[in-house]
Formats: sequence, structure tokens, C-alpha cells
Amino acid sequence: MHDFNYQKAGSVADAVSALNAADDGTVMAGGMTLLPTLKQRLAAPSDVIDLAGVSGLSGISVSGGVTIGAMTTHAAVSGSTDVKGTIPALADLAEGIGDPQVRNRGTIGGSVANNDPAADYPAACLALGATIKTDRREIAADDFFNGLFETALAEDEIITSVSFPSAEKAAYMKFPNPASRYALVGVFVAKTAAGVRVAVTGAGDSGVFRASSLEQALSSNFSASALDGITVSADDLMSDIHASAEYRAHLITTMAKRAVTAAG
Ligand SMILES: Cc1cc2nc3c(=O)[nH]c(=O)nc-3n(C[C@H](O)[C@H](O)[C@H](O)COP(=O)(O)OP(=O)(O)OC[C@H]3O[C@@H](n4cnc5c(N)ncnc54)[C@H](O)[C@@H]3O)c2cc1C
Repeated sequence: MHDFNYQKAGSVADAVSALNAADDGTVMAGGMTLLPTLKQRLAAPSDVIDLAGVSGLSGISVSGGVTIGAMTTHAAVSGSTDVKGTIPALADLAEGIGDPQVRNRGTIGGSVANNDPAADYPAACLALGATIKTDRREIAADDFFNGLFETALAEDEIITSVSFPSAEKAAYMKFPNPASRYALVGVFVAKTAAGVRVAVTGAGDSGVFRASSLEQALSSNFSASALDGITVSADDLMSDIHASAEYRAHLITTMAKRAVTAAG
């Protein structure tokens, strides 16, 4: 690990000031991704600005949907009766992230900001049409995820919460990598007043994406059988030691069918 300055921010404004004052600063949530990255010397920030002491960044509120503070852990989301009562698919998704250690430290803000191509929350954000709120603006999920580990966030911008509108029906199904529990393929299906949205994680060469062919089929008939015979192209899907693009393409339809059945 390279040397760095550790700073504990007292407020979001403090954290933004510290980021702007640093040569190359980064904020830390639970450290679940950041710390391994530092240990492996894949990043060498001059300053690590810890958000753990910032009040107001954790917690869950319900009002026509669910708003989750950026520093809220996956364990808090999975155990929340408010989330279970409003968007149960979101609680299920959080329950399936990593292991208990990861769920007790990892945060929704860190997950969304990191935009790992195999992370679960980006699929929920995209399928439910979430809004990512930062210290200075609101960003629609459709405009937020910009490719592998890339987002619309500015260098000194901090996520404060993520708001998910309620859905008539929603479910998330993932085929997890047995070692990490990250998605080999994860599919979040949502039926809302605005239509059906299907978001896929774990598979895309450019990270999370919406599966338009599945959305079209489900728009006229929201049932697993509507996806019979519908295939997803392996073009633009990842191939790695865990699975080929063709296998991932097959899994997308399979997981989508399971999600539709669960949502129904
Ligand atoms: C063993 C293991 C298994 C995992 N399995 C899964 C899995 O199955 N599914 C899954 O989805 N994820 C999985 N994860 C990821 C995990 O869920 C965390 O969400 C993710 O690592 C981010 O961690 P964190 O919240 O502690 O953020 P950190 O590691 O502290 O930060 C991650 C990045 O986000 C930035 N950041 C953090 N908070 C903010 C904010 N509020 N505003 C702006 N930028 C911010 C940081 O600067 C950093 O660049 C796994 C991780 C591990 C280590």
C-alpha cells in the first residue's frame, strides 16, 4: 500500500472541500472495494476521505418509493421492513450481495459509485428508474452508468442517496459466481406504470444495460412464457475464465424468466 493522508469528514461539504484541496483525493465508504485496491497498489490516492462520520448519509425513508442514504449498508437494506414492504425485490437483492462481512460494511453509495460490471445495485437502479442524488444534483439512472467502472459523477461529487420508485411487480435473479457471489449474470425485471424495464448486470462488455428485446416481449405479456424462443445476442457480452459470452447470453433469458415468475 502506498502512503496516503487519512481524513475523516464531518459533513458532505467538508468532504467536498477536502477532495478539492487534495492532489488526488478519494472518498471512502465501507472500504470494501477501495481498501483491496489500495492494498494491491492499483490506486495511489494522496488522500482518503472517510465518510463514516458524516451524519445524515445513512438511513431509509419511504414516500411513493424508497430513498436509501448513500452510507446505508447492504445488511441494513436487506433487513429493512420498509424496503421489504415497498420494494421487496430490493431487499432480496441486498440479501444476495457477497457474504455477511461485505453486507455489513459495503454501502449502496459505494456500490453505485464504483459501477462494477458485475455489481447488483446498478441493475436495480436501471430497471426501477432510480434517481441518484448527489451533493449538487439529481441524476437519472439512465444517465448515470457510463461503462465499466465509469459514472456521470464529477471527480469531487458525492452521492448522498438513491431513490427508487415503487413498481407494480419487480424481482431480481442472479446466477452468482460461487466464489465472490458477484453476478455472472443478474437480471432485474420491473413492471411499472411507465412500462416494463429489464436490466442486466454481470454480462455486458460495457457494464449494466437494458435488454430491449426482453422488454418488448414482456410489455405485451408479462409472463415467463413470453420469453420462450427469445434469444439475446452474445455480441457485446463478456467472455472470461468464468463464462463465455454465449453462456452469459443464454443465462440472461433464463434469469429473466425466473425473475418474471418470481415477480408475478
Ligand atoms: C468479497 C466481496 C464480495 C462482493 N460481492 C458482491 C456481490 O455479490 N454483489 C455486489 O453488488 N457487490 C459485491 N461486492 C461489492 C460490495 O458490495 C461493495 O458495495 C462495494 O465493494 C463498494 O464498497 P463500499 O461501499 O465499502 O465502498 P468503498 O470501497 O469505500 O468505495 C468504492 C468506490 O466508491 C467511491 N464512493 C464510495 N462512496 C461514495 C459516495 N457516497 N459518493 C461518491 N463516491 C463514493 C469510492 O471513492 C470508491 O471509488 C463484493 C465485495 C467484496 C469485497
